[in-house]
Amino acid sequence: MFDITKEQLKGIYHINDETLHLYEQAIEDSNAEFRVYDEIREYNQLKVLAAFQAERISDSHFTNSSGYGYGDIGRDALDRVYARVFNCESALVRPHFVNGTHAIGAALFGNLRPGDTMLSICGTPYDTLHNIIGIGGNKNIGSLSEYGVKYKQIDLNKNLKIDLPSVKEQLENDKTIKLVHIQRSTGYGWRKSLLVSEIGEIIAYVKELRPDVICFVDNCYGEFIDTIEPTDVGADLIAGSLIKNIGGGIAPAGGYIAGKKSCVEQAAYRLTIPGIGGECGSTFGVMRLLFQGLFLAPHVAIEAVKGAIFCARIMELAGFEVLPKYTDKRSDIIQAIKFNNKENLIQFCKGIQAGSPIDSFVECEPWDMPGYNDQVIMAAGAFVQGSSIELSADAPIREPYIAYLQGGLTFDHAKIGTLISLAKIIK
Ligand SMILES: *Cc1c(COP(=O)(O)O)cnc(C)c1O
Repeated sequence: MFDITKEQLKGIYHINDETLHLYEQAIEDSNAEFRVYDEIREYNQLKVLAAFQAERISDSHFTNSSGYGYGDIGRDALDRVYARVFNCESALVRPHFVNGTHAIGAALFGNLRPGDTMLSICGTPYDTLHNIIGIGGNKNIGSLSEYGVKYKQIDLNKNLKIDLPSVKEQLENDKTIKLVHIQRSTGYGWRKSLLVSEIGEIIAYVKELRPDVICFVDNCYGEFIDTIEPTDVGADLIAGSLIKNIGGGIAPAGGYIAGKKSCVEQAAYRLTIPGIGGECGSTFGVMRLLFQGLFLAPHVAIEAVKGAIFCARIMELAGFEVLPKYTDKRSDIIQAIKFNNKENLIQFCKGIQAGSPIDSFVECEPWDMPGYNDQVIMAAGAFVQGSSIELSADAPIREPYIAYLQGGLTFDHAKIGTLISLAKIIK
């Protein structure tokens, strides 16, 4: 670290000497790991660039449309660019998806029918999906369950891996299973994210038993952390949020779905309405930002991963248990830190808030959030509200008090935020 930076950190943020000492050690240890992700970043940048060029993207794709939005060439071209990036038949990228949950919901509602069963094989899905499925406790909201779509779940085994014998048993014995739900990222769970290669093995296993079953992957937080995506290894359908990795910090809102043409089309009928699908929807002039965000995403996602690796190492050096460890191979941008202590957890999140470019003067506190069952504390001082490709930390307030850190449009910022947080705890 440059001495001048050290003085700044001490002067502006009162970072103590112990934290600065750990900083230097953590950077030194992380450097070899960073190089692995530099290579992935370069590969993905090439992949995205080539997709833009193959679709001959030009200034004319950034124009506006209104009303029905028929023939919105920017919208349709971005769908094709995404399909190339994901190496799949079709994609649906829309600012009309209010978030990732909405995109996932459209994918599920579009592809499941009354009497079908959805089988989650990574344990309980991400918290905000519970009300879509009908296991969230809210009644009379039009969940899948109210429409007669059944739900089954197979928990991870004691090694936190997918329980293949149970998957086999379910697929062989329950012919109503129409869709298998796989979650790439950890969500609020103390487990490792699934590598794309592992997802590929699971899909091959499922398809061997039941080629008719749709393999759906919740790809939130996973994009561009590897050189391949779930659609490269057989996923029929994936979905994610544009205010995470793939929006590159530039997309102001939205979600995407990608995969087999038939599956994406069914989902499109739920985004809009049967018979209309993806052919309508004016884009209000945001297409340039969605294109530009995708273009920057391979870079930004790796900045965030570097932030996570650094955080893993420095928090481990400071004596906390972390998952993944700094040397573990990653498949998402999430870093979990176990505090075993409510106060340290809250201080950590407050530090991230204090280090934000926006709303740094605000103290975040635990509160009840729609879609979540426990109180949640969220530190997010973002340019785009709630964007978690920007540096953010959140935690359900429950034992053993685990904070989930993610994002950072620049590695430098992710580092500064982590240092402020750690200094608050060490003091
Ligand atoms: C963030 C996330 C979602 C939901 O995305 P939102 O944009 O917050 O609605 C779903 N699944 C996983 C694994 C996520 O991380």
